[in-house]
Amino acid sequence: MPEVKVLVNEPLSRHGFWRVGGPLDELVLVEAIDELPGLIAAEAWQVLGNGSNLLAPDEGLRGRTLRLGDAFRGLELLSDDGEQIEVGVGAGMLNAVLLRRLGRLGLAGAASLAGVPGTVGGAVVMNAGTTLGEIGDVVRWVDLCDRDGVRRVGRSELQVRYREGGVPEGAVVVSVGLGLSRRGFQEEQERIVHHLARRKATQPLDLPSCGSVFRNPPGSAAGRLIESVGLRGHRIGDAAISERHANFIVNLGSARAIDVMRCIHLGYTTVLRETGVRLEPEVRVLGRWPAELWPLPAAGA
Ligand SMILES: Cc1cc2nc3c(=O)[nH]c(=O)nc-3n(C[C@H](O)[C@H](O)[C@H](O)COP(=O)(O)OP(=O)(O)OC[C@H]3O[C@@H](n4cnc5c(N)ncnc54)[C@H](O)[C@@H]3O)c2cc1C
Repeated sequence: MPEVKVLVNEPLSRHGFWRVGGPLDELVLVEAIDELPGLIAAEAWQVLGNGSNLLAPDEGLRGRTLRLGDAFRGLELLSDDGEQIEVGVGAGMLNAVLLRRLGRLGLAGAASLAGVPGTVGGAVVMNAGTTLGEIGDVVRWVDLCDRDGVRRVGRSELQVRYREGGVPEGAVVVSVGLGLSRRGFQEEQERIVHHLARRKATQPLDLPSCGSVFRNPPGSAAGRLIESVGLRGHRIGDAAISERHANFIVNLGSARAIDVMRCIHLGYTTVLRETGVRLEPEVRVLGRWPAELWPLPAAGA
């Protein structure tokens, strides 16, 4: 069995897309599936995917932070009846790598991940998606590891909804089965190109961020609501509500995690007070925060 690699007091700011967050007690690179049950027997642990949708405090995170290594980055063709193709994908693979590999195989179905800069595991946990769909649309099963070992859970057993993959607390996604097709491959490739160009034109991709901070409320857009209450461009320390897309909070250089959290809190409370809409965070917030900031208040502040 390969030796477990551990970094002590590794700053999250080196790994998270916001480039904020303090020391992780232990960052463990997991290189074999049979190491996992033992590692998550610890009292405090969390998984770090590609860090593109999470916020942790400047004081860092206690316990073990697990990152899936090369053993979780494979892709296997499992079945092909000419129409439907099932592939098994390691949860540590980057979405961009997955899309490149599926492109080489001429397989369509995972376009929803285009431009989403995470891992396949993170995508399943978040039910990541775009205007091209949601990954939950093509997930057939996930292999989950908890303290008792690995078990396969079918798509129908997961409560998948908008930006919520239904993965139970206390489980690590280790691999995912996707149902894909050869049909419509060329059209899908064209839609991806168009979609990526549109994102580039409308999102502040030149600055560190974690993408959209809040989920879109039914029938509305979180960015437009934040803009409507006059917060576009609002700055706290070096964190700012983006001028280009008000549902993005960007790091202008040396933002701290607390500045990002204050922007989240301000966006939430102002939209609630001015419009009555209670925005739901999309970004995953880990660790301990001042009680006046997080959890977000149930009523307007
Ligand atoms: C510029 C930019 C654009 C973005 N655009 C989009 C978009 O269009 N659509 C969209 O849906 N998202 C978007 N995002 C957000 C983000 O990329 C997605 O939510 C992504 O799926 C997160 O994956 P990750 O691997 O980075 O997860 P992380 O951010 O590392 O983690 C997210 C959550 O998943 C958990 N997790 C991660 N991996 C596992 C695992 N294997 N097992 C169990 N739990 C796990 C973490 O503990 C955490 O709770 C964007 C982000 C950025 C920076």
